[in-house]
Amino acid sequence: MYSDLVERLRVREEKGLRRVRRTIEGPQDTHVSIAGREYLAFCSNDYLGLANHPELIESACQGVRRYGVGAGASHLINGHSSAHHELEQALARFTGFPEALLFSTGYMANMGVVTALLGRGDAVFADRLNHASLNDAALLSRAKLIRYPHLDLTALERRLAMSPARRKLVVTDAVFSMDGDIAPVDQLQALCEKYQAWLLLDDAHGFGVLGKQGRGVLFSASQARAHSPNIIYMATLGKSAGVFGAFVAARSELIETLIQSARSYIYTTATPALLPCTLLTSLRLIEQDEWRREQLSRHIVQLKQALQSLCWPLQPSTTPIQPLMIGASDAALRISDGLREQGILVPAIRPPTVPLGAARLRISLSASHTPADIERLANALWQLAKAG
Ligand SMILES: *Cc1c(COP(=O)(O)O)cnc(C)c1O
Repeated sequence: MYSDLVERLRVREEKGLRRVRRTIEGPQDTHVSIAGREYLAFCSNDYLGLANHPELIESACQGVRRYGVGAGASHLINGHSSAHHELEQALARFTGFPEALLFSTGYMANMGVVTALLGRGDAVFADRLNHASLNDAALLSRAKLIRYPHLDLTALERRLAMSPARRKLVVTDAVFSMDGDIAPVDQLQALCEKYQAWLLLDDAHGFGVLGKQGRGVLFSASQARAHSPNIIYMATLGKSAGVFGAFVAARSELIETLIQSARSYIYTTATPALLPCTLLTSLRLIEQDEWRREQLSRHIVQLKQALQSLCWPLQPSTTPIQPLMIGASDAALRISDGLREQGILVPAIRPPTVPLGAARLRISLSASHTPADIERLANALWQLAKAG
């Protein structure tokens, strides 16, 4: 049995696909310490720079003192605290939905929604570049998984029109995690209304960053509009919010359905109450600190300008996810290694996470970077480009 594992690991190593963990010796920040050396990092999803914020740390400490460390049970037994409850109400208000429900992780939230709504004989329509958790959720639900080319709504409509499925669910990243582009929510919403399909929007990378006060992708259009009743909104709390967890916001009937039948909600211990305590403070900072989003926008503009005529192009992303397209996997790895030697961390993203020949450096920016940090990254990339 073990020789089979060893053989499979060896094949992975040979293909250059073995992944390793780097151990960070302190908090998540724009500067991290690894093996005693300090690095400037462009890897995290902590877009607003909240993961190590003193006010959040203080709220976590207060939460521990009030609620202890462990939740002790699942939400439906007696792990559901007033902190969880208050955060759910705050998130519903903030995102403009009647109700919200906390999940332990975004992965579990997607599992919960898809499996609670669909079963055999139903169909999930998924953008080809969606996050893995959405695909896994579709497989677990036993509904038919029908994928459509990235952002190709004509292809999506054809598939929706042809489908004999009883229940239909369109699932999409709102901001695509490896490309940084944004799904056309208005058009998706119209298609879903036309074909009576649910629309699950995974706003893991938009919540906190997009829209007025960081309210997410549904608020990023210029005029305010009511949410379509077909929309189920999901966002994570471990990225811009800087903490951990996720939530689903929707109509009350949908949330009640999740409480009754989402297995990834029911059969797991509630997150420690110190997390919702911390997240209430995080939500306040997301809402108040417009300067963090403004800073982020300035960083995006600065990076785009600095890399404008570099031999490797940036994708046309307007979000803090800025992929620098390299092409070959070994070249992407070489550039990432070159940056690391100069004390800069940018991950190389290779197939199968991205299509063959589309390896890239995934630069993610944070409000807590400084203009000097961005300049240092750009200079290092220019140097590596010249060196060939
Ligand atoms: C990170 C991410 C998730 C998973 O969220 P976790 O809370 O980390 O489990 C789901 N969907 C997308 C698009 C993500 O980027």
